[in-house]
Amino acid sequence: MAHCQHLGCTEENVTACFYPDNETEQPNEYYCTVHAAKHGFCYMCGQFWGGVESFEFATIFGGSEGVCEICDYLASAELGEFDDDDDDCYWG
Ligand SMILES: [Zn+2]
Ligand SMILES: [Zn+2]
Repeated sequence: MAHCQHLGCTEENVTACFYPDNETEQPNEYYCTVHAAKHGFCYMCGQFWGGVESFEFATIFGGSEGVCEICDYLASAELGEFDDDDDDCYWG
């Protein structure tokens, strides 16, 4: 079982993370929901969004921290409507 590759973190609920130039099925890294964003990855899709303003400053743009704009949109759409209450949002 993979665990978060952030130094010192042993979280096993991880996202498989891929750099943009990774054309294989093998993830570059595994990070937990907390550390994925710190390394520039969306913790939902595992794609690299480092340096993208809408990701780095998601909360300023009205999104969710650590989630890319695409996943944030999909999550909102899946809930059926835009809801202020994110507390009942569970992923994985
Ligand atoms: Zn971690
Ligand atoms: Zn995403």
